[in-house]
Amino acid sequence: MSVAALRRDLAEARDDLRALREASEARLRAARDLRPVERKDKEQILTARTVEQKLEALLRAEEPRLVRWLVREWKGQRADITDEELLDAIRTGDLPLQTIWHFQDRYTDFVNTKMVESWSAAAGVSSEMWQRGLRRAGVQHRFDFLGNRIEEWTSQHSAELVTHMLDQQRQALRNVIRYHTAVEPLAERSLVRLLRPLVGLTPRQANQVRALREELASQGVRARRIDEQVARLALRNQRIRAQTIARTELAMAYNNAAQLTVKDVVDAGGFESAPEKVWRTQKDERVCPICGPLHEQRTWLDGAFENGSTLPPAHPRCRCVVLYEMPTPLGGTS
Ligand SMILES: [Zn+2]
Repeated sequence: MSVAALRRDLAEARDDLRALREASEARLRAARDLRPVERKDKEQILTARTVEQKLEALLRAEEPRLVRWLVREWKGQRADITDEELLDAIRTGDLPLQTIWHFQDRYTDFVNTKMVESWSAAAGVSSEMWQRGLRRAGVQHRFDFLGNRIEEWTSQHSAELVTHMLDQQRQALRNVIRYHTAVEPLAERSLVRLLRPLVGLTPRQANQVRALREELASQGVRARRIDEQVARLALRNQRIRAQTIARTELAMAYNNAAQLTVKDVVDAGGFESAPEKVWRTQKDERVCPICGPLHEQRTWLDGAFENGSTLPPAHPRCRCVVLYEMPTPLGGTS
C-alpha cells in the first residue's frame, strides 16, 4: 500500500472516530435530559435486603454445579489436545488453527448449553422478583416481551464470553511457550508436559504454574515430583477460575435481568419519568477498593456510575446489586 493511500485510510479512520464520538456525546446529552425527578418523589420498589439476599441464595444454589461443569469442560479440553498439536504450538508460537477452532466449538457448545442454563436461572430469579415488586408498587404491565429481551442479552453475551475464554486460553499458552522458547529454553517434551495442564487457566495463573515448575527444577526436584506439583497447582487454579467465572456470570445475569425488567416498563411508558438506579455493595464488600466508593451512588436508568459501569459486577467475583427507585407509576395506586 502506498504512503498516500495509508494516509487517506488514516484520515478516514479519524473521521469515523470523530463521528462515533459525537454520536455518543449526543446520546449522553439526551440521557441527561431524562434526569430523574427529585428524590422525595421516589419510591423504593424492593428493599436492599431482599435484592442482596436473593443474589446470595442464587449463588449458593447455582454456583457449585456451574463450577463442576467448567472444571469438567477443561478436563475434556486437556484430554482432547494432542501432543502433536502442542508440539506444533511450540514450534509456531501459537496453537494450530484447527485446535483453536476445536476449542471454539467446545466453548460455544458449553456456553450455549450449560452457561445459558445458569444465566436463565439467574435471570429468572431476578426478573420474577422485580416483576412482583413492580406489581406490588402498583405498576400494571404485562411483560410480554421481557423474555425476548433477556434472550437477546444472553445471545449477545454468549458470543462475548466464548471470545473471552478462547482469548485467555490462547494467551496463557502463548506466554508460556514464548518464555520457554525465547527466554529460558526448555526441551520440547518437558514443555509439552507443562502446557497440557495449563489448558483452562488465565495467563496470570499459567505463569504462576510455570514459575513453580521452574523453581522446583532449580532445586533439583525429580521430574515426576515436579509434574505432580504442577498438576496440583494447575487444578487448584482451575477451580478458582471456575468459581470466579461462575460467580461473575451469575451476578451479571442477575443484574442485567433486573435492568431489563424495569426497562420493559419504562419503554412501554409505564412511568411518568425515568426511574433512578442505586448501586448497593454487599456489607462484606464495602472495603473493596473498587466497589466501596460506589456504594449508594445513584444514576438514571441507562446511566453509568462513576467507575464507568452501567451495572455490577464491577470486577470478577463482585456481588454488588442495583436497586431501582421509581417515580409515581401511571395508573398506579399512589
Ligand atoms: Zn462489587
